[in-house]
Amino acid sequence: MTTSAPENTREPAATSEVDAVVLGAGVAGLYQLHQLREQGLRVRAFDAAGDVGGTWWWNRYPGARFDSEGYIYQYLFDESLYKDWSWSQKFPGQPEIERWMHYVTDRLGLREDIQFNTRITVANYDEDRGRWLVHTDQGDIVDTQFFISCAGMLSAPLKNIRGTDDFRGELVFSSSYPAEGLELAGKRVGVVGIGATGIQIIQSIAGEAGHLTVFARTPQYTLPMKNPTYSEEDQQAYKARFEELRETIPHTFTGFEYDFEHAWADCTPEQREAILEEIYQDGSLKLWLAGFGEMFFSEEVSEVISEFVRGKMRERLRHDPHLVDTLVPTDYGFGTHRVPLENGYLEVYHRDDVDLVNVRNNPIAQITATGIELEDGTHHELDVIILATGFDAGTGALTRIDIRGRDGRSLADEWGRDIRTTMGLAKYGYPNLLTTAVPLAPSAALCNMTTCLQQQTEWITNAVKDLRAEGKTTIEPTAEGEDAWVEHHEEVASATIVPRTTSWYLGSNVPGKPRRLLSYIGGVGTYRQKCDEEAAAGYPAFTRR
Ligand code: NAP
Repeated sequence: MTTSAPENTREPAATSEVDAVVLGAGVAGLYQLHQLREQGLRVRAFDAAGDVGGTWWWNRYPGARFDSEGYIYQYLFDESLYKDWSWSQKFPGQPEIERWMHYVTDRLGLREDIQFNTRITVANYDEDRGRWLVHTDQGDIVDTQFFISCAGMLSAPLKNIRGTDDFRGELVFSSSYPAEGLELAGKRVGVVGIGATGIQIIQSIAGEAGHLTVFARTPQYTLPMKNPTYSEEDQQAYKARFEELRETIPHTFTGFEYDFEHAWADCTPEQREAILEEIYQDGSLKLWLAGFGEMFFSEEVSEVISEFVRGKMRERLRHDPHLVDTLVPTDYGFGTHRVPLENGYLEVYHRDDVDLVNVRNNPIAQITATGIELEDGTHHELDVIILATGFDAGTGALTRIDIRGRDGRSLADEWGRDIRTTMGLAKYGYPNLLTTAVPLAPSAALCNMTTCLQQQTEWITNAVKDLRAEGKTTIEPTAEGEDAWVEHHEEVASATIVPRTTSWYLGSNVPGKPRRLLSYIGGVGTYRQKCDEEAAAGYPAFTRR
């Protein structure tokens, strides 16, 4: 966004006035809207999507599904809202998830306060009035006291390949896959990207496409998912655990129902192997998030666990040298970036109608009128191209909006130089801008999203309530408070081996983006405690007027 900051005096008149604008109608936005309304605030939510769902509205590509268990992805603030919904599987697919989000919206009666097909483009803080003027691409100008971002950490798609407009076949990004689907039968289909998204697409369309070519750059650790269908009895069983889940999930390391249960030092090599095998067989993310926490701190432990996973992958790839070289990571540790669950993904590459192209040392040069050309001039003729090339995570959703805080400072410029926040909840220089799923909180990556988004929206709701109760109108982090949080974040991050791996976790997939581990890695439970302590102490890291 290149628009320069308008003088506040030159702002056109507002078309409406509210107490809070909520950006986004996904998991965070819906709950934030509900909570602020309950507090009596006039709230308007905006979403560029055509309906509720956030990431689950946009990402409707073939095979999109949870790899958090459905029953822990639900909101835990309302027992009957929880229990009146039943999942058909342990890891449900996107259509069912979207239906659940509609169910929540309708139960809470939220729709009337959400404006869809509307993108927020500009937000200017007026220091004299202590209010934001929020502009949309539909011509709205909303005068609001609070501007709350629930834009999601993975909502700004990365478009980094030349020539997308030249292609004469069908080209889609995974994050805007057509709702009606694409006709792939008999077609030559190319998929670029083997992250969590690409994997789900590849395993779903292999066999449906006439021929599938996968363009793979960085190898990716994967774990097989076990996804049982739920009987009514199974549903009753997890619902009966509601209280237990509500007690445990918010306090675990990653907001899942399980936690690191084993100490590496206390086990013999045989015991470690047996534990790894047992949790691998669970078919969930347990091997990553409930095995040995030492994996994140010790290269030695990481290497043993990484080799365990590599062994499983090599076996499934039948030790085929090309497949193993292209798909099995060797130069970074298991779990140092997002581990996807998959269903028969690796086996896809044994099919005769699937080709795997390694573009690590021979990158994609461009998309042409008829296919994909590599740097050495090799050309792959294609009818359909699906780009699953990832996102400008954590910051992209907000830096694509022209957000101006005190003195006209630009959030895009500031985050373009250095990514700093106060607990991922606010930013110095931007009073009454409150944020979820932005960097320096676990919700920027390392969390079961609903767990963290509930916690952050609840914290914001309470911060607004406290402010109003004291007759104050603005809340903004202090420079010192922000410095202290950034320092703490760095200290925690640098104690782990996670920042040694190049991935979107560090912003390294976006050229020029400042490097910083986006997610706070001190643990979801610890983060929650620190947020609670901040509020209980009267918000010492903030100025409240
Ligand atoms: P991603 O993990 O960033 O993967 C993007 C893929 O595209 C990588 O393989 C990347 O290769 C490749 N790529 C990007 N630009 C390329 C280029 N110019 N040439 C060749 N390859 C290129 O993105 P994602 O798969 O969309 O996943 C993002 C996150 O979304 C996940 O980590 C996860 O947190 C979330 N997600 C969750 C679920 C779920 O809950 N079930 C499903 C999907 C996604 P390099 O690695 O070499 O850059």
